[in-house]
Amino acid sequence: MALITQRPKGTMDVVPSQSYKWHTVEKLVSETAELHGFKEIRIPTFEDTGLFVRSVGETTDVVQKEMYTVTAAGDSKFTLRPEGTAGTMRAMLENGIMNEGFPQKTYYILSCFRHEKPQAGRLREFHQFGCEMVGTESPRADAEVISLAKCVLDRVGLKNIRLNINSIGCPTCRAEYHKALKEYFSARKNELCETCQGRLERNPMRILDCKSPICQDIAKDAPVILDYLCDDCKEHFEKLQEYLSVMGIEFDINPRIVRGLDYYTRTVFEFITTDIGAQGTVCGGGRYDGLIEQLGGQKTPALGFGMGLERLILTMEKQGAGFMEQKTCDLYIAPMGEAAVCKAMGIATELRDEGCLVEYDLVGRGLKAQMKYADKIGAKFVMVLGDNEIESGEARLKNMRSGEQLDIRLDVGLAESFSNALMSEMFKDIDADIENFLGKEN
Ligand code: ATP
Ligand code: MG
Repeated sequence: MALITQRPKGTMDVVPSQSYKWHTVEKLVSETAELHGFKEIRIPTFEDTGLFVRSVGETTDVVQKEMYTVTAAGDSKFTLRPEGTAGTMRAMLENGIMNEGFPQKTYYILSCFRHEKPQAGRLREFHQFGCEMVGTESPRADAEVISLAKCVLDRVGLKNIRLNINSIGCPTCRAEYHKALKEYFSARKNELCETCQGRLERNPMRILDCKSPICQDIAKDAPVILDYLCDDCKEHFEKLQEYLSVMGIEFDINPRIVRGLDYYTRTVFEFITTDIGAQGTVCGGGRYDGLIEQLGGQKTPALGFGMGLERLILTMEKQGAGFMEQKTCDLYIAPMGEAAVCKAMGIATELRDEGCLVEYDLVGRGLKAQMKYADKIGAKFVMVLGDNEIESGEARLKNMRSGEQLDIRLDVGLAESFSNALMSEMFKDIDADIENFLGKEN
Protein backbone atom coordinates (compact mmCIF):
# COMPACT_ATOMS: atom_id res chain seq x y z
CA MET A 1 0.00 0.00 0.00
CA ALA A 2 1.24 3.45 -0.82
CA LEU A 3 2.17 5.60 2.14
CA ILE A 4 0.00 8.62 2.80
CA THR A 5 3.23 10.57 2.78
CA GLN A 6 3.68 9.84 -0.92
CA ARG A 7 1.94 11.72 -3.69
CA PRO A 8 -0.18 9.69 -6.09
CA LYS A 9 1.68 8.27 -9.08
CA GLY A 10 1.84 10.68 -11.98
CA THR A 11 1.31 13.82 -9.91
CA MET A 12 3.81 16.53 -9.10
CA ASP A 13 4.55 18.94 -6.25
CA VAL A 14 5.86 22.38 -7.09
CA VAL A 15 7.98 23.27 -4.07
CA PRO A 16 8.25 26.93 -2.98
CA SER A 17 11.79 27.33 -4.32
CA GLN A 18 10.59 26.29 -7.80
CA SER A 19 7.26 28.11 -8.09
CA TYR A 20 8.89 31.13 -9.75
CA LYS A 21 9.22 29.02 -12.90
CA TRP A 22 5.46 28.55 -12.98
CA HIS A 23 4.88 32.24 -12.24
CA THR A 24 7.10 33.13 -15.19
CA VAL A 25 5.25 30.86 -17.58
CA GLU A 26 1.77 31.73 -16.33
CA LYS A 27 2.51 35.44 -16.62
CA LEU A 28 4.01 35.19 -20.11
CA VAL A 29 1.30 32.97 -21.57
CA SER A 30 -1.59 35.03 -20.25
CA GLU A 31 0.07 38.30 -21.27
CA THR A 32 0.62 36.97 -24.78
CA ALA A 33 -2.96 35.74 -25.09
CA GLU A 34 -4.27 39.12 -23.91
CA LEU A 35 -2.06 40.90 -26.45
CA HIS A 36 -3.91 38.90 -29.11
CA GLY A 37 -7.30 39.94 -27.70
CA PHE A 38 -8.06 36.71 -25.83
CA LYS A 39 -9.79 36.86 -22.43
CA GLU A 40 -9.54 34.32 -19.66
CA ILE A 41 -12.31 31.83 -18.94
CA ARG A 42 -12.48 29.68 -15.79
CA ILE A 43 -14.43 26.46 -15.79
CA PRO A 44 -15.08 23.65 -13.29
CA THR A 45 -12.57 20.87 -12.66
CA PHE A 46 -15.23 18.22 -13.30
CA GLU A 47 -18.06 17.99 -15.79
CA ASP A 48 -20.78 15.58 -16.65
CA THR A 49 -19.10 12.45 -18.04
CA GLY A 50 -21.34 12.62 -21.11
CA LEU A 51 -19.77 15.92 -22.16
CA PHE A 52 -16.36 14.32 -22.69
CA VAL A 53 -17.71 11.12 -24.22
CA ARG A 54 -19.68 13.18 -26.72
CA SER A 55 -16.93 15.68 -27.60
CA VAL A 56 -13.59 13.92 -27.19
CA GLY A 57 -15.08 10.80 -28.77
CA GLU A 58 -15.95 7.27 -27.72
CA THR A 59 -13.20 5.61 -29.73
CA THR A 60 -10.35 7.77 -28.41
CA ASP A 61 -7.71 6.70 -25.89
CA VAL A 62 -8.80 9.47 -23.58
CA VAL A 63 -12.38 8.23 -23.28
CA GLN A 64 -11.62 4.52 -23.53
CA LYS A 65 -8.79 4.33 -21.01
CA GLU A 66 -7.81 7.61 -19.44
CA MET A 67 -10.80 9.27 -17.77
CA TYR A 68 -11.07 9.73 -14.01
CA THR A 69 -14.76 9.26 -13.42
CA VAL A 70 -16.17 9.94 -9.98
CA THR A 71 -19.52 9.51 -8.34
CA ALA A 72 -20.89 10.79 -5.07
CA ALA A 73 -23.90 9.26 -3.39
CA GLY A 74 -27.04 10.12 -5.30
CA ASP A 75 -25.19 12.07 -8.00
CA SER A 76 -24.81 11.20 -11.63
CA LYS A 77 -21.39 10.43 -13.10
CA PHE A 78 -18.79 13.16 -13.30
CA THR A 79 -15.36 13.12 -14.90
CA LEU A 80 -12.29 15.17 -14.01
CA ARG A 81 -11.56 17.17 -17.15
CA PRO A 82 -9.02 15.40 -19.40
CA GLU A 83 -8.71 18.60 -21.49
CA GLY A 84 -10.10 22.12 -21.61
CA THR A 85 -11.94 22.52 -24.91
CA ALA A 86 -15.13 20.58 -24.10
CA GLY A 87 -15.74 22.43 -20.83
CA THR A 88 -14.97 25.76 -22.45
CA MET A 89 -17.47 25.16 -25.27
CA ARG A 90 -20.06 23.96 -22.76
CA ALA A 91 -19.53 27.14 -20.71
CA MET A 92 -19.69 29.40 -23.76
CA LEU A 93 -22.98 27.83 -24.81
CA GLU A 94 -24.46 27.84 -21.32
CA ASN A 95 -23.53 31.48 -20.68
CA GLY A 96 -24.77 32.76 -24.03
CA ILE A 97 -21.27 33.86 -25.07
CA MET A 98 -21.93 32.48 -28.56
CA ASN A 99 -24.52 35.26 -29.02
CA GLU A 100 -22.14 38.07 -28.16
CA GLY A 101 -20.60 38.44 -31.61
CA PHE A 102 -17.83 36.59 -33.40
CA PRO A 103 -15.05 35.79 -33.13
CA GLN A 104 -15.04 34.98 -29.43
CA LYS A 105 -11.52 34.48 -28.12
CA THR A 106 -10.83 32.83 -24.78
CA TYR A 107 -7.86 31.31 -23.00
CA TYR A 108 -7.31 29.28 -19.84
CA ILE A 109 -4.64 27.80 -17.61
CA LEU A 110 -5.95 24.66 -15.97
CA SER A 111 -5.16 21.21 -14.63
CA CYS A 112 -6.12 18.12 -16.67
CA PHE A 113 -6.44 14.53 -15.51
CA ARG A 114 -5.68 11.44 -17.57
CA HIS A 115 -5.08 7.92 -16.30
CA GLU A 116 -1.93 7.27 -18.34
CA LYS A 117 1.29 5.42 -17.73
CA PRO A 118 3.44 8.04 -15.98
CA GLN A 119 6.82 8.82 -17.56
CA ALA A 120 8.96 11.87 -18.27
CA GLY A 121 6.63 14.53 -19.70
CA ARG A 122 3.55 12.36 -19.19
CA LEU A 123 1.63 12.82 -15.96
CA ARG A 124 -1.77 11.90 -14.60
CA GLU A 125 -2.39 15.43 -13.46
CA PHE A 126 -0.86 17.99 -15.76
CA HIS A 127 -1.48 21.60 -16.72
CA GLN A 128 -2.48 23.17 -19.97
CA PHE A 129 -2.49 26.67 -21.29
CA GLY A 130 -5.19 26.67 -23.95
CA CYS A 131 -6.73 29.12 -26.39
CA GLU A 132 -10.03 28.78 -28.23
CA MET A 133 -11.40 30.94 -31.03
CA VAL A 134 -15.05 30.56 -31.97
CA GLY A 135 -17.04 31.78 -34.95
CA THR A 136 -14.69 31.94 -37.90
CA GLU A 137 -14.05 29.49 -40.66
CA SER A 138 -11.36 31.58 -42.31
CA PRO A 139 -7.82 30.19 -42.59
CA ARG A 140 -6.73 33.59 -41.25
CA ALA A 141 -8.00 32.41 -37.89
CA ASP A 142 -5.93 29.22 -38.15
CA ALA A 143 -2.84 31.27 -38.93
CA GLU A 144 -3.58 33.67 -36.07
CA VAL A 145 -4.04 30.87 -33.52
CA ILE A 146 -0.86 29.12 -34.65
CA SER A 147 1.04 32.39 -34.53
CA LEU A 148 -0.21 33.00 -30.99
CA ALA A 149 1.16 29.61 -29.92
CA LYS A 150 4.44 30.39 -31.70
CA CYS A 151 4.59 33.79 -30.04
CA VAL A 152 4.24 32.16 -26.61
CA LEU A 153 7.01 29.68 -27.37
CA ASP A 154 9.24 32.51 -28.59
CA ARG A 155 8.53 34.70 -25.58
CA VAL A 156 9.41 31.98 -23.08
CA GLY A 157 12.64 31.59 -25.03
CA LEU A 158 12.28 28.13 -26.59
CA LYS A 159 14.55 27.14 -29.43
CA ASN A 160 14.66 24.18 -31.83
CA ILE A 161 10.95 23.73 -31.93
CA ARG A 162 9.30 22.53 -35.14
CA LEU A 163 5.79 23.29 -36.23
CA ASN A 164 4.04 20.37 -37.96
CA ILE A 165 0.76 20.98 -39.75
CA ASN A 166 -1.74 18.78 -41.50
CA SER A 167 -5.34 18.88 -42.67
CA ILE A 168 -7.65 16.04 -41.75
CA GLY A 169 -10.45 17.35 -43.93
CA CYS A 170 -14.16 17.68 -43.35
CA PRO A 171 -16.68 14.83 -42.88
CA THR A 172 -17.17 14.68 -46.66
CA CYS A 173 -13.57 14.04 -47.62
CA ARG A 174 -13.01 11.95 -44.56
CA ALA A 175 -15.72 9.48 -45.58
CA GLU A 176 -13.67 8.59 -48.68
CA TYR A 177 -10.51 8.44 -46.66
CA HIS A 178 -12.05 6.15 -44.04
CA LYS A 179 -12.99 3.73 -46.80
CA ALA A 180 -9.41 3.63 -48.06
CA LEU A 181 -8.02 3.21 -44.55
CA LYS A 182 -10.45 0.42 -43.74
CA GLU A 183 -9.42 -1.41 -46.85
CA TYR A 184 -5.74 -0.99 -46.05
CA PHE A 185 -5.93 -2.08 -42.40
CA SER A 186 -8.43 -4.91 -43.03
CA ALA A 187 -5.75 -6.76 -44.97
CA ARG A 188 -3.63 -6.91 -41.79
CA LYS A 189 -6.42 -6.95 -39.25
CA ASN A 190 -5.09 -9.87 -37.23
CA GLU A 191 -1.81 -8.09 -36.54
CA LEU A 192 -3.47 -4.97 -35.07
CA CYS A 193 -3.83 -4.58 -31.30
CA GLU A 194 -7.20 -5.43 -29.80
CA THR A 195 -8.24 -1.80 -29.41
CA CYS A 196 -7.39 -1.04 -33.02
CA GLN A 197 -9.31 -4.06 -34.27
CA GLY A 198 -12.35 -2.43 -32.67
CA ARG A 199 -11.43 0.93 -34.19
CA LEU A 200 -11.24 -0.56 -37.65
CA GLU A 201 -15.01 -0.56 -37.99
CA ARG A 202 -15.89 2.53 -36.01
CA ASN A 203 -13.04 4.98 -36.55
CA PRO A 204 -10.06 3.69 -38.58
CA MET A 205 -8.24 7.03 -38.40
CA ARG A 206 -7.64 6.43 -34.69
CA ILE A 207 -5.34 3.53 -35.62
CA LEU A 208 -2.86 6.09 -36.99
CA ASP A 209 -2.69 7.54 -33.49
CA CYS A 210 -2.12 4.19 -31.70
CA LYS A 211 0.99 4.07 -29.53
CA SER A 212 1.59 0.31 -30.03
CA PRO A 213 4.80 -0.20 -32.07
CA ILE A 214 3.18 -2.93 -34.20
CA CYS A 215 0.20 -0.76 -35.13
CA GLN A 216 2.57 2.16 -35.79
CA ASP A 217 4.62 0.00 -38.09
CA ILE A 218 1.58 -1.16 -40.03
CA ALA A 219 0.32 2.44 -40.22
CA LYS A 220 3.56 3.61 -41.87
CA ASP A 221 2.37 2.80 -45.39
CA ALA A 222 -1.30 3.62 -44.88
CA PRO A 223 -3.05 6.00 -47.31
CA VAL A 224 -2.49 9.69 -46.57
CA ILE A 225 -5.41 12.04 -45.85
CA LEU A 226 -3.96 14.87 -47.95
CA ASP A 227 -4.64 12.80 -51.07
CA TYR A 228 -8.34 12.68 -50.19
CA LEU A 229 -9.09 16.32 -49.40
CA CYS A 230 -12.07 17.90 -51.18
CA ASP A 231 -11.49 21.13 -53.09
CA ASP A 232 -12.68 23.38 -50.25
CA CYS A 233 -10.49 21.69 -47.67
CA LYS A 234 -7.52 21.73 -50.03
CA GLU A 235 -7.94 25.45 -50.65
CA HIS A 236 -8.31 26.11 -46.91
CA PHE A 237 -5.07 24.26 -46.21
CA GLU A 238 -3.20 26.04 -48.99
CA LYS A 239 -4.37 29.43 -47.80
CA LEU A 240 -3.19 28.60 -44.27
CA GLN A 241 0.27 27.77 -45.61
CA GLU A 242 0.33 31.04 -47.52
CA TYR A 243 -0.56 33.04 -44.38
CA LEU A 244 2.03 31.22 -42.28
CA SER A 245 4.66 32.10 -44.86
CA VAL A 246 3.55 35.74 -44.80
CA MET A 247 3.93 35.70 -41.00
CA GLY A 248 7.41 34.21 -41.34
CA ILE A 249 6.44 31.04 -39.47
CA GLU A 250 8.31 27.95 -40.66
CA PHE A 251 6.42 24.68 -40.79
CA ASP A 252 6.59 21.08 -42.00
CA ILE A 253 3.62 19.34 -43.53
CA ASN A 254 3.21 16.09 -41.66
CA PRO A 255 0.35 13.87 -42.91
CA ARG A 256 0.88 11.55 -39.91
CA ILE A 257 -0.60 14.05 -37.46
CA VAL A 258 -4.24 13.17 -36.83
CA ARG A 259 -4.49 14.26 -33.15
CA GLY A 260 -5.90 12.13 -30.37
CA LEU A 261 -9.33 13.69 -29.99
CA ASP A 262 -12.27 13.07 -32.29
CA TYR A 263 -13.57 16.59 -32.67
CA TYR A 264 -10.88 17.89 -35.01
CA THR A 265 -11.58 18.89 -38.64
CA ARG A 266 -9.34 20.42 -41.29
CA THR A 267 -6.27 22.06 -39.72
CA VAL A 268 -4.35 20.14 -37.05
CA PHE A 269 -0.91 21.12 -35.78
CA GLU A 270 1.74 20.31 -33.23
CA PHE A 271 4.84 22.08 -31.96
CA ILE A 272 7.48 19.46 -31.29
CA THR A 273 10.86 19.55 -29.58
CA THR A 274 13.48 16.83 -29.55
CA ASP A 275 15.07 18.14 -26.36
CA ILE A 276 12.92 16.35 -23.75
CA GLY A 277 12.78 12.81 -25.06
CA ALA A 278 9.86 10.85 -26.45
CA GLN A 279 7.06 13.11 -25.16
CA GLY A 280 8.14 16.05 -27.26
CA THR A 281 4.81 17.54 -28.27
CA VAL A 282 4.67 20.76 -26.31
CA CYS A 283 1.57 22.10 -28.00
CA GLY A 284 -1.20 20.51 -30.03
CA GLY A 285 -4.31 21.94 -31.56
CA GLY A 286 -6.52 22.39 -34.53
CA ARG A 287 -9.92 23.20 -35.90
CA TYR A 288 -13.12 21.60 -34.62
CA ASP A 289 -15.91 22.93 -36.81
CA GLY A 290 -18.42 20.25 -35.83
CA LEU A 291 -18.04 20.23 -32.06
CA ILE A 292 -20.37 23.04 -31.02
CA GLU A 293 -23.25 21.65 -33.05
CA GLN A 294 -22.51 18.22 -31.61
CA LEU A 295 -22.93 19.70 -28.13
CA GLY A 296 -26.34 21.09 -29.00
CA GLY A 297 -25.40 24.57 -30.21
CA GLN A 298 -25.81 26.07 -33.67
CA LYS A 299 -23.29 24.97 -36.25
CA THR A 300 -20.31 27.22 -35.45
CA PRO A 301 -16.73 26.83 -36.67
CA ALA A 302 -14.02 27.00 -34.01
CA LEU A 303 -10.39 26.16 -33.32
CA GLY A 304 -7.78 26.20 -30.61
CA PHE A 305 -4.79 24.55 -28.98
CA GLY A 306 -3.57 23.13 -25.70
CA MET A 307 -0.01 23.60 -24.49
CA GLY A 308 1.38 21.27 -21.84
CA LEU A 309 3.02 23.47 -19.20
CA GLU A 310 5.10 20.70 -17.59
CA ARG A 311 6.62 19.89 -20.98
CA LEU A 312 7.10 23.58 -21.67
CA ILE A 313 8.97 24.15 -18.38
CA LEU A 314 10.96 20.93 -18.86
CA THR A 315 12.11 22.18 -22.27
CA MET A 316 12.93 25.62 -20.88
CA GLU A 317 15.06 24.01 -18.16
CA LYS A 318 16.82 21.74 -20.66
CA GLN A 319 17.55 24.69 -22.93
CA GLY A 320 18.60 27.01 -20.10
CA ALA A 321 15.87 29.57 -20.81
CA GLY A 322 15.55 32.46 -18.34
CA PHE A 323 12.89 32.62 -15.64
CA MET A 324 11.63 35.66 -13.74
CA GLU A 325 13.63 36.04 -10.55
CA GLN A 326 11.93 35.41 -7.25
CA LYS A 327 11.62 38.55 -5.14
CA THR A 328 13.92 38.38 -2.15
CA CYS A 329 13.84 40.12 1.22
CA ASP A 330 14.44 43.90 1.01
CA LEU A 331 14.70 44.42 4.74
CA TYR A 332 15.15 42.08 7.67
CA ILE A 333 14.47 43.66 11.05
CA ALA A 334 16.30 42.13 13.99
CA PRO A 335 14.47 43.18 17.13
CA MET A 336 16.06 42.81 20.56
CA GLY A 337 13.38 42.65 23.24
CA GLU A 338 9.61 42.85 23.36
CA ALA A 339 9.28 46.60 22.78
CA ALA A 340 11.46 46.28 19.70
CA VAL A 341 9.31 43.45 18.34
CA CYS A 342 6.25 45.70 18.56
CA LYS A 343 8.16 48.52 16.84
CA ALA A 344 9.30 46.06 14.12
CA MET A 345 5.69 45.08 13.44
CA GLY A 346 4.79 48.73 12.84
CA ILE A 347 7.79 49.36 10.59
CA ALA A 348 7.08 46.19 8.58
CA THR A 349 3.49 47.29 7.96
CA GLU A 350 4.56 50.78 6.92
CA LEU A 351 7.19 49.55 4.45
CA ARG A 352 5.05 46.71 3.05
CA ASP A 353 2.42 49.34 2.23
CA GLU A 354 5.10 50.85 -0.02
CA GLY A 355 5.68 47.50 -1.73
CA CYS A 356 8.86 46.47 0.13
CA LEU A 357 9.41 42.84 1.12
CA VAL A 358 9.99 43.02 4.87
CA GLU A 359 10.56 40.25 7.39
CA TYR A 360 11.45 40.22 11.08
CA ASP A 361 12.27 37.62 13.70
CA LEU A 362 9.28 35.37 14.40
CA VAL A 363 11.19 32.77 16.38
CA GLY A 364 12.84 34.70 19.21
CA ARG A 365 16.46 34.15 18.20
CA GLY A 366 19.52 35.97 19.51
CA LEU A 367 21.20 38.65 17.39
CA LYS A 368 23.89 36.43 15.95
CA ALA A 369 21.42 33.77 14.82
CA GLN A 370 19.21 36.47 13.33
CA MET A 371 22.07 37.88 11.27
CA LYS A 372 22.83 34.40 10.02
CA TYR A 373 19.19 33.92 9.05
CA ALA A 374 19.06 37.31 7.27
CA ASP A 375 22.10 36.29 5.29
CA LYS A 376 20.55 32.94 4.42
CA ILE A 377 17.35 34.45 3.02
CA GLY A 378 19.40 36.95 1.03
CA ALA A 379 18.12 40.09 2.76
CA LYS A 380 19.40 43.26 1.07
CA PHE A 381 19.34 45.31 4.28
CA VAL A 382 19.23 44.52 7.97
CA MET A 383 18.07 46.85 10.71
CA VAL A 384 18.88 46.04 14.33
CA LEU A 385 16.27 47.42 16.72
CA GLY A 386 16.90 47.68 20.46
CA ASP A 387 15.92 49.99 23.33
CA ASN A 388 18.50 52.58 22.23
CA GLU A 389 17.08 52.82 18.73
CA ILE A 390 13.51 53.13 19.97
CA GLU A 391 14.53 55.88 22.38
CA SER A 392 16.57 57.89 19.88
CA GLY A 393 14.13 57.27 16.99
CA GLU A 394 17.05 56.42 14.73
CA ALA A 395 18.39 53.05 13.59
CA ARG A 396 21.30 51.76 11.59
CA LEU A 397 20.65 50.13 8.27
CA LYS A 398 23.27 47.64 7.15
CA ASN A 399 23.73 46.94 3.46
CA MET A 400 24.37 43.21 3.49
CA ARG A 401 26.28 43.16 0.24
CA SER A 402 28.64 46.10 0.66
CA GLY A 403 28.68 46.19 4.45
CA GLU A 404 27.96 49.94 4.32
CA GLN A 405 26.02 51.43 7.20
CA LEU A 406 23.43 54.16 7.06
CA ASP A 407 21.47 55.84 9.85
CA ILE A 408 17.80 56.44 9.18
CA ARG A 409 14.99 58.08 11.15
CA LEU A 410 12.24 55.74 12.28
CA ASP A 411 9.54 58.34 12.95
CA VAL A 412 9.69 60.76 10.01
CA GLY A 413 10.18 59.84 6.35
CA LEU A 414 11.13 56.23 7.01
CA ALA A 415 9.47 54.85 3.90
CA GLU A 416 11.15 57.46 1.72
CA SER A 417 14.62 56.98 3.20
CA PHE A 418 14.39 53.24 2.89
CA SER A 419 13.16 53.42 -0.70
CA ASN A 420 16.11 55.65 -1.55
CA ALA A 421 18.53 53.18 -0.02
CA LEU A 422 16.92 50.34 -1.99
CA MET A 423 17.03 52.33 -5.20
CA SER A 424 20.69 53.19 -4.93
CA GLU A 425 21.40 49.51 -4.29
CA MET A 426 19.43 48.61 -7.43
CA PHE A 427 21.28 51.21 -9.49
CA LYS A 428 24.58 49.67 -8.44
CA ASP A 429 23.45 46.47 -10.13
CA ILE A 430 22.43 48.33 -13.26
CA ASP A 431 25.74 50.25 -13.29
CA ALA A 432 27.60 46.98 -12.92
CA ASP A 433 25.60 45.50 -15.79
CA ILE A 434 26.41 48.46 -18.02
CA GLU A 435 30.10 48.30 -17.15
CA ASN A 436 30.08 44.59 -17.80
CA PHE A 437 28.38 45.16 -21.14
CA LEU A 438 30.77 47.94 -22.17
CA GLY A 439 33.70 45.80 -21.08
CA LYS A 440 32.53 43.03 -23.35
CA GLU A 441 32.02 45.46 -26.23
CA ASN A 442 35.62 46.69 -26.04
P1 ATP B 1 0.30 12.93 -26.56
O1 ATP B 1 0.35 12.55 -27.98
O2 ATP B 1 1.62 13.35 -26.02
O3 ATP B 1 -0.39 11.91 -25.70
P2 ATP B 1 -2.17 14.34 -26.77
O4 ATP B 1 -2.44 14.34 -28.20
O5 ATP B 1 -2.86 13.37 -25.89
O6 ATP B 1 -0.60 14.26 -26.48
P3 ATP B 1 -3.57 16.83 -26.29
O7 ATP B 1 -4.79 16.19 -25.82
O8 ATP B 1 -3.57 17.48 -27.61
O9 ATP B 1 -2.34 15.82 -26.18
O10 ATP B 1 -3.07 17.89 -25.20
C1 ATP B 1 -2.33 19.06 -25.55
C2 ATP B 1 -0.98 19.08 -24.88
O11 ATP B 1 -1.08 18.75 -23.51
C3 ATP B 1 0.00 18.07 -25.41
O12 ATP B 1 0.61 18.53 -26.57
C4 ATP B 1 0.98 17.96 -24.27
O13 ATP B 1 1.91 19.02 -24.29
C5 ATP B 1 0.10 18.08 -23.07
N1 ATP B 1 -0.23 16.76 -22.52
C6 ATP B 1 -1.14 15.86 -22.95
N2 ATP B 1 -1.18 14.78 -22.18
C7 ATP B 1 -0.27 15.00 -21.19
C8 ATP B 1 0.16 14.26 -20.05
N3 ATP B 1 -0.38 13.08 -19.73
N4 ATP B 1 1.13 14.78 -19.26
C9 ATP B 1 1.68 15.98 -19.54
N5 ATP B 1 1.31 16.74 -20.59
C10 ATP B 1 0.36 16.26 -21.42
MG1 MG C 1 -2.33 11.47 -25.13
